[in-house]
This record gives sequence, structure tokens and C-alpha cells, in this order.
Amino acid sequence: MNAAPTTHSASLVRAGTATPQIAILGAGAAGLCMAIQLKKAGINSFTIYEKAGSVAGTWRDNTYPGSGCDVPSHLYSFSFEPKHDWSRKFARQPEIEAYFQHCAEKYGLLPHIRFNTEIAEAAFDEEEALWRIRMTDGEEVSAALFISGAGQLNQPFTPHLEGIENFNGAAFHSARWNHDIDLTGEKVAVVGSGASAIQFVPEIAPKVEHLTLFQRTPNWVVPKADRPYTRLEKALFKRFPALAKLHRYMIYLTLERNFLAFLKDSFFGKLFEKAARKEIESHIEDPELRKKLTPDFPAGCKRILLSNDWFPAMARPNVSVETAGIDHVEDGALIGKDGKAHAADVIIYGTGFKATDFLCPMEIKGLGGRSLNEAWREGAEAYRGVAVSGFPNFFMMYGPNTNLGHNSIIFMIECQVNYIMQCVQALIGKDLAYVDVKPDAMSAFNTQLQEDIKKSVWASGCTSWYKTESGKITNNWSSFTMKYWWQMRRADLAHFVQAVKRRRKTPNLQAAD
Ligand code: NAP
Repeated sequence: MNAAPTTHSASLVRAGTATPQIAILGAGAAGLCMAIQLKKAGINSFTIYEKAGSVAGTWRDNTYPGSGCDVPSHLYSFSFEPKHDWSRKFARQPEIEAYFQHCAEKYGLLPHIRFNTEIAEAAFDEEEALWRIRMTDGEEVSAALFISGAGQLNQPFTPHLEGIENFNGAAFHSARWNHDIDLTGEKVAVVGSGASAIQFVPEIAPKVEHLTLFQRTPNWVVPKADRPYTRLEKALFKRFPALAKLHRYMIYLTLERNFLAFLKDSFFGKLFEKAARKEIESHIEDPELRKKLTPDFPAGCKRILLSNDWFPAMARPNVSVETAGIDHVEDGALIGKDGKAHAADVIIYGTGFKATDFLCPMEIKGLGGRSLNEAWREGAEAYRGVAVSGFPNFFMMYGPNTNLGHNSIIFMIECQVNYIMQCVQALIGKDLAYVDVKPDAMSAFNTQLQEDIKKSVWASGCTSWYKTESGKITNNWSSFTMKYWWQMRRADLAHFVQAVKRRRKTPNLQAAD
């Protein structure tokens, strides 16, 4: 294991005491942010366990054509690491991946990362106040704190299509794009029409012979105010960092306002619908196709999508939209529920992620061997998205009810890291064995959250990855991000059980791997 040297920060660690060993899961945006703040606080005794061979998480995985972020890059970046020369307002995947690689290198995180190392299970050993962590290859390590940066969108969901085993062509998920397949002149079937599909379909449509889009539900798609930054703008951002900061704040406030669209019967929501309908009308002439592409649920219920080329792609003569559903697959064709056969050489799944599974399939066991999957049987929930009662010294970033439909998830991650850092500081400063959020604090938080979320459009009936099959909204934050920031600015340790260390010869917060 990569045992990083321990340095001591005067503000955190008393002379002579060792900092606790910290295991971070994942080297995506959240894991990197956590690690950077630990380093800044003088805590170097952490290791990041990353299942893949490089950093950047979702921005490493989603390499499909047209992959990019629908949150402007000046905001979709760490507040402490501005990048003045973003090439365009909404950067594409290679630039975003490069940004996170840059962060990992600049802050000296690479020696802390164990690549190609996937955590399979973690169990809390109360006696020793340690997390015993086992990797998929059987290796075991232990750490005083276990912090997950796994997020909500890391496990691709591929539906099982009846008869798929008879299909001899290539079939892959958008988050595992097969770049060896040349789609030129091929007949392509795309399953799904969500945030990923609306980015890659317009990119591949011009080169394929025919693209059949199997759409289950249309989405509200509004224009994307994207453009390259000019050389002058980039130079000004570099010369006057305050200007870049102001630009970031303006983006933040504009996006923050968009939360109003998520309230039931919202006027703002209607504005989005109007903008989307206008797009459909200006690009799609066929009334039947217009109907197929127009949602029958309020805007915001599912993620509002941004694109300037989705409807033009849908209007192409070599693109058809099928809404009857897929009955089964045969070699060389997908058969619709209406009995129609659709020839296909390649199937691409744009079917999203197992978003409500959260940390599954990992097995995480807290006090008394209680399983997190069991605790979350009725749907995941946490205290402020970061802690779960009965799972001491375990924290999450981008955990339950911290997803957004309107603003930057990086902002939320920074709020969470700030909060977790305060817990880590308390643990070290008070020389505690562990902190564990109290059940009543967690329950009060979630009762209020679920009450607030009832006022949102997500609760208005449509299905989305924001909720479980039973309808519990487990993914989204219920309000403005400012409210989250306010709640997360100070960790109230009174809401945590603070277990004192048992006096023993070997301090139980020592690294033991
Ligand atoms: P998604 O938005 O959840 O879309 C999945 C699509 O697959 C939906 O159209 C869904 O239909 C369809 N689908 C799922 N199961 C199906 C089945 N069994 N049969 C037929 N169709 C099925 O997934 P995604 O496009 O990968 O995006 C997921 C999330 O990733 C986004 O909401 C966003 O948060 C993030 N993302 C962000 C960006 C960005 O620019 N920041 C880009 C891409 C993705 P239904 O709607 O009927 O369920």
C-alpha cells in the first residue's frame, strides 16, 4: 500500500501525534477535492483507491463523441483552482479530463493514488475504531476514516434486451464507448434519449447509414448558449483574476435562479417549456415527429437538457425515432413491440446509470455489522448527504440527495469537503476514536428534506433516475445550493456521537495497513 509520509499541521495535529490514516474511494472530482484539502491542512496520511488507471472519474469514462458538460466550465471547476483559459463556455470532455489531471499533478496527489485498485467491501471494527477494507483482488488495508468519492453516476446501466445474445454486431454503453468501431456507413440503433444520447447522436448521425433512436420518453431540450471564449477574454481572465471570479459568480447566480423551474407549476418551468417547443417547431416539420419529441410532463421533472443540434439531428432523413418500445433483438435487427423490424449493425446504449444504487455493489458494514445496503433498502439517505448513522468515520461526497438539476455539482462537492474536513479536524483535535451522526439528527434532516422536496416538480409523477422504483426521491437536493452551503458551512459536532478512544498500548487511530 502507498503509505504516504505524515506531516503535521500546527492547526490540526499536536506535535508527536500521528494523523489518522484516511482511505478515499475514487480519484474523480470529489476524491481529488478531498485529497487536496487534506494536503492543504497538512494531512498527508491518505490514500486514494481508484479502480481505473487514471484520474477524473466520469470525465475519464465518458469519452463518447460530443461528450461535454452542460454546466459552464468557469463554474464546473474548483473555486481554489481557477482555469482562465477554458476554450469555450461549455468545455468538452478532453479539456475537463485534462483539468482534473492537472489538479492531481499540481497538488502532488499522484503518489497517493493506488490505481487499478477497486474496493469490494469495508467493515468498521469498533474495537479498534478502524475501517477494514478489502479490495476486489483480496488485498486488505485498514484506515481510521473511509471517505467515498464514488458519486451517483459511475455504474452504467444496460437494460437486458430479450434475445441480445443472438446479436452478432457490436453493442456498447455510451459510458464505455468502443472507439475501435467505425460507425461510418453502419446502421446504428441507439437506446435511450437522455443527457448522453443528446450529445452523441448529433455527432454520429451524419456519418452513419441510418440511426434508429429507440426513445422511451422525450426530454425538454433547450438551446445551449455555448461559444468559444475569445483570445481577449482569456487574456483578461488571466490578467485580472477578479474578472474571472466575477464571471464565475454571475454564472453561479444565473444557474441558481433556475432552481425556480423545479418548483411545481413554476413560471420559470413554463419558460423552459416554451423555449423547447420553439426549438421543436423551428427544426421539425413533421407533426408526427413533433409530437413524439414533445414531453407530456412538466419541464424539470427529468433533467432539462441543453443542445443546439439535437432537433436538427432528429430531422435528418437518415434518423428515425421509434417509440413503440423494443420487443426483442435478432441478429442484425431490433424488433419493436409493434412488430416492426429495424436493421442494426451496432447497438449503443444511452441508458444512463444505476443512480439510485449509490455505493452498491460494494458491501459496507457499520456498527454491529449492519450493512449499508440493508440500511438503504427503502432508498438511500444520509445526513446532509455526507454521513450515515451507525457508520462511524465514514463520509461520502455526492451522496444521497445532493444531486442538482440546475447548478454545479463541484460547488456541492466543495461544501461537502469543507464539512468533512471539520469532522476530521474534530477527530484529530479532540483525539477521538470516531464520530457517528446521531440517528435523530439524520432522521430530522431527512424528514425536512422529503417535506421540502414534495413542493418540487420531481414529485409530480414522472419517472426519473432521481427516484427509486417506489418513488422516493433519493438523489436530488431539495432547494437552492445557497441553502446547502449555509447548512454545510459549519459542522455541528453536537449532532454526532463522539466516541473517545479506549486507552490501549497502541493508539487505535494509527495506520495499520
Ligand atoms: P439518462 O439521462 O438517465 O437517460 C437514459 C435514457 O435511457 C433515457 O432516455 C431513458 O428513458 C432510457 N432508458 C433507460 N432504460 C431504458 C430501457 N430499459 N429501455 C429503453 N430506454 C431506456 O442517462 P444519461 O443520458 O447517461 O445521463 C445521466 C445523467 O448523467 C444526466 O442526467 C446528467 O446528470 C449526467 N450527464 C451530464 C452531462 C453533462 O453535460 N453534464 C452529460 C451526460 C450525462 P426514460 O427517460 O424513459 O427513463
